[in-house]
Amino acid sequence: MYLTQGLHRALQQCPERTATIFSGRRHSFGTLGGRVARLAGALRTLGVQPGDRVAMLAHNSDRYAEFFLAVWWAGAVANPVNTRWSAAEIAYSLNDCETAVLLVDDAFAAQVPAIRQQATVVRTVVHAGDAAAPEGMLSYEALLQAAAPMTDAGRQGDELAAILYTGGTTGFPKGVMLSHANLWSAAVARLAELSMAPDGISLLVAPLFHVAGLGRLVTQIVIGATSVIEPVFRADAVLDAIERHRVSDVMLVPSMLQMLLDHPVFDAARLRSLQRIVHGASPMPPALLDRAMQALPHVGFITSYGMTETSAVVSLNGPMCQATRARFDKVLRSVGRAGYGCEVRIVDGEGQPVLSGTVGEIAVRGPGVMLGYWNKPAETAGALRDGWLFTGDGAWMDGSGYMHVVDRLKDMIISGGENVYSVEVEAALMLHPAVASCAVIGVPSEQWGEAVHAVVVLRPGHLADGQALRDHCRTRLAGYKCPKTVDFIEALPLSAAGKVLKNRLREPFWQGRSQRVN
Ligand code: ATP
Ligand code: MG
Repeated sequence: MYLTQGLHRALQQCPERTATIFSGRRHSFGTLGGRVARLAGALRTLGVQPGDRVAMLAHNSDRYAEFFLAVWWAGAVANPVNTRWSAAEIAYSLNDCETAVLLVDDAFAAQVPAIRQQATVVRTVVHAGDAAAPEGMLSYEALLQAAAPMTDAGRQGDELAAILYTGGTTGFPKGVMLSHANLWSAAVARLAELSMAPDGISLLVAPLFHVAGLGRLVTQIVIGATSVIEPVFRADAVLDAIERHRVSDVMLVPSMLQMLLDHPVFDAARLRSLQRIVHGASPMPPALLDRAMQALPHVGFITSYGMTETSAVVSLNGPMCQATRARFDKVLRSVGRAGYGCEVRIVDGEGQPVLSGTVGEIAVRGPGVMLGYWNKPAETAGALRDGWLFTGDGAWMDGSGYMHVVDRLKDMIISGGENVYSVEVEAALMLHPAVASCAVIGVPSEQWGEAVHAVVVLRPGHLADGQALRDHCRTRLAGYKCPKTVDFIEALPLSAAGKVLKNRLREPFWQGRSQRVN
């Protein structure tokens, strides 16, 4: 039964405990279990057989949690859809996964006709929103009421549980095949490393279609703990939810943490219940982490590094708080040491381990590593070699096993033959008081091959020109790392997972040139 085992345990041990809180609705594990067994039964009557894919296109909700569990209960495979995709991209994924049943919520119901036109495989659309089901769609609640509960189909660990798409940060997302054992092992690693306990209350605000959101949901179910679910990230709603439901744990992408701290109604006193903030999915600017630690001295901050291809967990660092900060200063900037079950190596271009302190590519081996990319044998062969997953991330490791991610290899800038890590330049820029957020990219240069270019969002009411920012960088970085040019924009383009889309920033500079693919 694998991923549904947590639910079975909770049904036996704590059926009265609250499983999900969403938009004023509260379901106990007992209620959740009943609904999951009936939804699984309903999926079976819709023709879903073990191994078949079932899709969900929705913002986070309690029904999204039910969707995953019911799909697994029915022995099927979850195919959650990125909410930022266009109808054509969604149709591509559904056709590629041969997904016949699609669930949508109110926010996406209007897109269904356009999707159906292109996704010829889709037979049935279930409306999992609160409004009345539009014509041509089945009502989720009516289906649940009519369905007979089914017994758990009982999956095995090596069977496919989900096709999760990568963040799409560097190009078109790839469908990552994760087994029950992959997601289970990551949940257990998280339990051990993040001190997650049955009485902990987690806020799920990272998207559930992404491994960061789903991973935390799975962990909460495995331990029978309460999940407070927010549909999307909105700083004021997140602050309210943490205060109202006495949330103890949350996973935030750095851009979300920044929006929280910058929000006019931010008040640390409202976040008294918060014990831990896990941050990851993109590099954490040290200036932002320092600010967060000062603003929330009672919170333990945990850095997590991982990717969809590893079921999220590779390494973790922390918890660290304002009080212990000085003691941990040396390792504070690192993404920590390998998590339970993960073996990590830093390798050179030939896949051979490099000496400690030398930058190379992170390679990972362990029970969380994917089965492969869906329908992409060439990409799978490129990423999985001799049992190791090659991450495409550059890093160095110190003698104690602490890993320091320097940059994605695709984002690294080669200027005048020197490697410039965009993350290092961004960290320096973030130390300037006028800089709210920034992204550093390589742009074509006759003289240098690539030149360092910064795209900066200024704090409201602050002024700084390109020269001032370059001068600021000169006091912190070697000359060749300093931005040659600076652009100012209102807001950085972010993916649905809250990551900066650098390829979109690079695009206008590289149009018609062949050097850079992304
Ligand atoms: P795509 O693969 O489609 O381009 P993506 O790589 O952003 O998108 P994810 O699987 O969501 O897709 O993200 C994993 C990547 O995020 C890692 O490979 C790494 O580059 C980055 N990342 C994750 N955690 C951290 C962290 N703590 N610090 C720095 N980078 C991180
Ligand atoms: Mg990736």
